Amino acid sequence: MPDPSRTIIDLSHPLVSGQVPACAGHPSFRASHCFRLARGDFANVHSLAIGTHTGTHLDAPYHFFDDGATVDRLDLSLLASAPAVVADVRHRGAHERIAWEDLALAAEEVARRGARVLLLCTGWARNWARDNYSDHPYLDADAAKRILGLGVRVIGLDTLSPDEVTPEREGADVHRVVLGNGGIIVENMARLDALVDSGWKHVTVSLLPLSLDGCDGSPIRAVAWEGTE
Ligand SMILES: [Zn+2]
Repeated sequence: MPDPSRTIIDLSHPLVSGQVPACAGHPSFRASHCFRLARGDFANVHSLAIGTHTGTHLDAPYHFFDDGATVDRLDLSLLASAPAVVADVRHRGAHERIAWEDLALAAEEVARRGARVLLLCTGWARNWARDNYSDHPYLDADAAKRILGLGVRVIGLDTLSPDEVTPEREGADVHRVVLGNGGIIVENMARLDALVDSGWKHVTVSLLPLSLDGCDGSPIRAVAWEGTE
């Protein structure tokens, strides 16, 4: 676990009631008081309306596969404190494909460190809660396959999805490749650019989900620190 004096980079977006972007048909996030000291109640207590894909969250294999692992059954040793490699793909813009060639440097580092977590920094988190948030760059499905071939089990991005999302269609090729191979996808990450710019040599992340029985995904509090454990 991190030394308490270490700098922690918070890789999660704050969940602000009514202001969290969501895919069409997903619940919109709401937090409201059900008890309130200011109203004479005994304490402050909130009620939440939340989806499994609200804010910074992970997708478990069950999201696309009925026989895939649910979020309560994921390997916590993979998520609690994991060496991670961050690929800088900020040169890719709206609806551009992130290809294997864009990941060459990161792939070398993954192999060298034996990392099982690869984070793709597109810089798109700057558009969080803006109208163009779903116009993000997307990962090539073949590149995703090759990433898994390196031993990576978790692919995280600072976008709504690793797949292309258009008004007509929400792609799912990368979801199927990663989740179909027992991998995990982390979406809507924040401050991956701060992580790239930190110059940290060895990055460790924690990406723990809630233990939601039988569910397909979960909001997480994603954090990173420098060090090998
Ligand atoms: Zn998701």
